Amino acid sequence: MEFDLKARFSFSGEISSKKDEINKFLSHISDQFLKNDENNSSTIEILKLEKSLLIFNIKSEGVFRPHSVILQIKNYFSKEFGSKYHIGIREIIVESYQISFELEKEILKKFSIPFADLDFQGKQVKINLKDLDEEFLKRNYIDRMINRVKEKVEDQYYEGKGEFWKLIWKSDEKTPVWEKDPTVEMVRLEWLKQGPTKGKWFFRPQAAAIMEAMEKIAIKEILQPLGFQEVIESHIVPFDIWLKTGHLEGMPGEFYYVSEPATRDVEKWERFVDLTKITKTVPFDELKENLSIPSAGICYAQCPMIYWSFKGKTIAEESLPILIYDKTAISNRYESGGRHGIERVDEFHRIEPVYIGTKEQLLKLREKMLERYKHVFNNIFDLEWRMAWVTPWYMQQAGKTHDESTQETGTIDFEAYMPYRGNRADSEWLEFQNLSILGEKYIKVFTIKAQKSDLWSGCSGIGLERWTTAFLAQKGLDPDKWPDGFKKYLGNLPEGIRFL
Ligand code: ATP
Ligand code: ZN
Ligand code: MG
Repeated sequence: MEFDLKARFSFSGEISSKKDEINKFLSHISDQFLKNDENNSSTIEILKLEKSLLIFNIKSEGVFRPHSVILQIKNYFSKEFGSKYHIGIREIIVESYQISFELEKEILKKFSIPFADLDFQGKQVKINLKDLDEEFLKRNYIDRMINRVKEKVEDQYYEGKGEFWKLIWKSDEKTPVWEKDPTVEMVRLEWLKQGPTKGKWFFRPQAAAIMEAMEKIAIKEILQPLGFQEVIESHIVPFDIWLKTGHLEGMPGEFYYVSEPATRDVEKWERFVDLTKITKTVPFDELKENLSIPSAGICYAQCPMIYWSFKGKTIAEESLPILIYDKTAISNRYESGGRHGIERVDEFHRIEPVYIGTKEQLLKLREKMLERYKHVFNNIFDLEWRMAWVTPWYMQQAGKTHDESTQETGTIDFEAYMPYRGNRADSEWLEFQNLSILGEKYIKVFTIKAQKSDLWSGCSGIGLERWTTAFLAQKGLDPDKWPDGFKKYLGNLPEGIRFL
C-alpha cells in the first residue's frame, strides 16, 4: 500500500522560528514510527512553516499507515511545545490523503463509497480523501473505508456465483395426496384471507387451528423433550442491537421500521386531529411533523434480542448449555417481489430456539435436535424432505452467497418438496426451517462469558407458516387424509364461519 498524506497543524503561537527543532522532531518521529519495519519506506517533509502554521507531508509504502499516527504526532507536539513554549495545537486538518493499493481482482463495475473519490486502473485503486478533521481521524473511518472497498470488489464476484448447497440427507419419496397450492385453496374455502396490507394474512379458525397445531408439535415434540425453556422478548429491536449483529448493514431494505411519536402533547397533535376529522383522510404531511425518525425496527429474527439479553453476563457452568426459545415475537420482513401465499410473507410466526454452550455441548445438541426434527417430519408429518448445508445466514445477510461450511459451524436448511410447483428434480423445494451453529461470533459481539468454558452459540428458525404450507402442499386439506401422527394433534378442524 502507498500512502501520501498532507497535514496542516495550526498552533496557538508563532512556531516558524523553530524550524530546526521541528525538523529534528519530525525525523525523530519518523524514526520511531516509520522505520521500525524494513518493509516500509517513508519520509516526512515540511512543505510550509509560516507563523503559527505547519504543513507537512508523510509518504509511506508498506503496512505502515500514516493516518494511524497523525493523532500521536499531534499529542507529541502538544506535550513538547506545551511544556517548553506554552504553545498548543488549535486544529489539525488532513488537507489531502491518497491511499493506493492493488486489489486481488480487477473490479467488474465502477462503484463509489462515502467520504472519498475512488480511481480505478486495472487492479490498482486509489482512495482520495480531502479535508479530514480530527474527529474523522479519531473515529477510525479510514481503515473501514479501505476494507469496504475490498469488500465491494469481493461482493461483485460473489454475485455471479451460485449458492452453496450440499445435500446431507433426504427422506424417501412420498406420494402426495394432491398437487394444489394450499394457500389458493384455503383462500377459496375462506380459511384464509389476504391481509389488509402486503404479505400479511388473516387466519380464520381452520387455518388458525393448523398453525396452532404446528406450534404445539414444535414445543411438545422438540423443545420440551430437549429441555428448552421459554422466554418472551420484545418485538421492537433498537438499531444498536442490529448494529452489533450486522443486520443493519446486511438488510436495511428488508426491515419494517418503527417510529416513535415526537410528542404526546395533545396540542401538538391538534391540527392532525382536526384534519383527520374534516378530511376523513390521513394527513400524512402533518403526521410527518409529529413523528421521530425511526430508531428501531420490528423483529426480523428473534435471536439478536436474545443475545442482547445476555450482554455482558457471566453464565454459571451449571446453567450450560443455555437452551431457550421465543415464540411470541412475530417476524416482519419486506419481501417485496418474492411474496407468495403464506410461504413467503412479510409477517410470519416463528419459534426460535437459541443455544449457548461449549463447542462439544452444541455439537451434541445439534445431533439431538436433528433427531427430534427427523421424528417430527418423518413420523408426525410423514413429509418428503431433505437437509443441506447452505451459506450461514449471517453471511447471507451480509450479502455473501458462497461458503464452504466447516460442518462444525454452519447452517443446515430443511427443505420440503412442494408438489404444486412441479416435479421433484426441477422445482424449487421450500426451506421450511434451518439450524445453525455460529461459533463465537455473537458471543464475542455481546461479550457473553462463562465461569470457565469458551462459549459458542447457535439458533434454529422454525417457521410456522412454512411448516404449515409444506405439510398441506403434500397432505392436502382433508383431515381424513392426514397422517395419524398429525391427527393426534388435530383430528378435526373447527367449523369456521359460513359466508353467504
Ligand atoms: P428464505 O431463503 O426462504 O428467504 P431465509 O434464509 O431468509 O429464508 P432465515 O432468515 O434463515 O430465512 O429464517 C429462518 C426461517 O424463518 C426460515 O426457515 C423460514 O421458516 C422462516 N422464514 C423466513 N422468511 C420467511 C418469510 N418471508 N415467510 C415465512 N417464513 C419465513
Ligand atoms: Zn437466529
Ligand atoms: Mg429471506
